[in-house]
Amino acid sequence: MAPGRAMDPRLGHEPGLGDLGARARRAIEEARAAGVTRLVTVGTDAAQSEAALALAEANEGVWATAGLHPHDASAGVETVERLVAGQPKLVGIGECGLDYHYDLSPRPAQREAFAAQVALACRHGLALVIHTREAWDDTFDILASAGPPEHTIFHCFSGGPTEARRALDVGAWLSFSGIVTFKNAGEIREAASLCPLDRLLVETDSPYLAPVPHRGKPNAPKFVPLVGAAVAGAKGVAVEEVEDASWAAAEEVFSLGHPSSGHRRSGPCAR
Ligand SMILES: [Zn+2]
Repeated sequence: MAPGRAMDPRLGHEPGLGDLGARARRAIEEARAAGVTRLVTVGTDAAQSEAALALAEANEGVWATAGLHPHDASAGVETVERLVAGQPKLVGIGECGLDYHYDLSPRPAQREAFAAQVALACRHGLALVIHTREAWDDTFDILASAGPPEHTIFHCFSGGPTEARRALDVGAWLSFSGIVTFKNAGEIREAASLCPLDRLLVETDSPYLAPVPHRGKPNAPKFVPLVGAAVAGAKGVAVEEVEDASWAAAEEVFSLGHPSSGHRRSGPCAR
């Protein structure tokens, strides 16, 4: 699959990485060699968001998001909010959302941080990148009361057809990860098969969830073509169709052609 369209390579996500810059640059080079020429790297707390923004600033074809992951919700949204202004390579708010599987922050703090970031995305006209796990109802409730932003993405989509329809009904994009290649992921492939091509993104979520045949090993943006191929298989369409469509969808949802910051990339929220 070339040229590639990795979203969410999470180049900055490995904690305690002394040589992050060098490793990230290597990951970008390897991705380019595999035809993956544009990347969005995702923030999950203040430090990771700053690293993502610095990486994007230093590399052509790399953009960043800034956000507070539900795991870190207790830190308070103000820790990432201060990073948002005047960032030409910032294309989204997130990962943010709810994770009731791990519950690493208390649920009320998760809900508060998520709602605040929905509002932040609305205020700045940025895309919203959602992480949700075992929390579909609360996720949709908060989206309904706070927005949703015009450009909303369910990252690492892990629902089945029912959740896919709910997400599509609120106008969101579904981003599929390496899970779509896993043997036991029939529900997710069903979700991919019903997702219209213009609402579909592919990502690696690296360093996690490496696609088959690299499952269990560290993931990397260069593997995103394997995700695209699995999505094409689920939909029964040519790989090139998924390439073209996911490229265009990523461009639209992250407003990648937008000339500079300080301008609203997406429209205002409904509420
Ligand atoms: Zn996530």
